[in-house]
Parts: sequence; C-alpha cells; structure tokens
Amino acid sequence: MIENKKGLLIVVSGPSGVGKGTVCKCLEEGNDNLFISISATTRNPRNGEVDGKQYYFYDVEKFQNMIENNQLMEWACFCDNYYGTPKAPVEKMLLEGKDVILEIEPQGAMKIMEQCPDAVFVFLFPPSMEELRNRLCGRGTEAEDVVEKRLEIAKQELLMADKYNYYVVNDSVENSKSKIEAIITAEKANKERCKIIIK
Ligand code: ADP
Ligand code: 5GP
Repeated sequence: MIENKKGLLIVVSGPSGVGKGTVCKCLEEGNDNLFISISATTRNPRNGEVDGKQYYFYDVEKFQNMIENNQLMEWACFCDNYYGTPKAPVEKMLLEGKDVILEIEPQGAMKIMEQCPDAVFVFLFPPSMEELRNRLCGRGTEAEDVVEKRLEIAKQELLMADKYNYYVVNDSVENSKSKIEAIITAEKANKERCKIIIK
C-alpha cells in the first residue's frame, strides 16, 4: 500500500577523528540494506588499509581524470590530499533500493546538499575538543603536525554544522548507532518519500 522504492542517501560528516568511520561501520554491520560508499583518495594507505576496501587509493593523475570525466559525485581537498565519492556505484545502489552512507568531510557534504537535496545530512560532534584530540592522537595514524592541522580544520568544520539536518554527539558508538538508526527509520517513513498505492 505504501511504496518507497528508492534507497536513502545518508551523509555522515564531522571532523576527522570524531568517530565517523567507527560509527558507520557499526551501522553497516547491523543492517543488510545499508552500504557505505567507498571513496577514492590520493592519500597513502595506513597500516592494514586495503585498496578497494576502506578506499580506492589513486595517484593524483588518476583522481584528476575522474574529476574531468565527471565520475565523482563530489570531491574535496583535505589536508593536502584529494578525497571523492565515485558516482556510478552510489547511483546504482540507490536505484536498487539500497540505503547508502557517504562518510565525508563537510566541503564534500555541501556539494551533495546542492545536488541531492533529498539526502539526509547528519553531523557527528565530539563530546569536547579535548576528546577529539584524544581520539585523533589515540588512533595513532597521523604524525603530530598532521593531528594539529586536522584539529585546526575541525574548528572551521564545526561552524558548518548548522547546514545539516541532524546533530549526533558521538559519546558512545552504541548511542550514535541507535540515534542514526532512528533518523533513518523516521526519514524512510517521511510521507514525502512515500507513495500511496490503492489497488
Ligand atoms: P573518523 O572516521 O571520524 O576520522 P574514527 O572512526 O577513525 O574517526 O575514530 C577515531 C578514533 O576514535 C578511533 O581510534 C576510534 O576507535 C575512536 N572512537 C570512535 N568513536 C568513539 C567513541 N564513541 N568513544 C571513544 N572512542 C571512539
Ligand atoms: P582520512 O584521511 O582520515 O581517512 O579522511 C580524512 C577526511 O576525509 C575525513 O573527514 C573523511 O570523512 C573525509 N573523506 C573520506 N572520503 C571522502 C570523500 O569521498 N569525499 C570527501 N569530501 N571527504 C571524504
């Protein structure tokens, strides 16, 4: 009786180290119809990262080719590296009725807001700046100067939060997961996304 065929596009954004990757992975594991889009980047893989799993690791030339050939839904330069969302796999999943998460920084999120106004935008906050620093340092993946640079960028990113639809404070992964699940459930029931069919 109620038809809602197209998948939901959910943008989860927020400063580096807030826990986007951790929370989104947890969401994906708990939901058979939810998929995290795999981004392309020019940054070097971290220990344990596999090409095609966490990211597609491309050189600058290949990344620029993708921009020129209109193969990215959005892209941004963050901390001296390019990051972008390959367009074709996301469009395919949405048409198949799958829900798709873009785990991206705010410059990219702004581009998605222009292109896909029916997407849902969630901004993930750290409990405090001190905790953000602890998480970034604790992850141990960036040199100290890069951590400082990411924290400086974070201050600018937090100013962009008012453009988003929902705020979630990532105090615990479980809390964030259930809040975002609630957001997805509510958005999928929104009458603007549903068609009534009476036969
Ligand atoms: P992002 O993807 O936003 O850069 P990550 O998911 O890599 O952030 O998380 C950064 C660090 O913070 C990781 O070491 C992760 O285990 C930790 N973390 C994530 N969420 C929480 C949380 N709610 N409480 C404590 N630590 C967290
Ligand atoms: P990291 O180097 O820590 O993996 O990612 C750095 C930042 O880039 C994070 O905030 C991450 O969410 C963001 N990011 C990852 N993929 C994309 C993408 O495809 N587009 C944009 N705009 N940002 C991305």
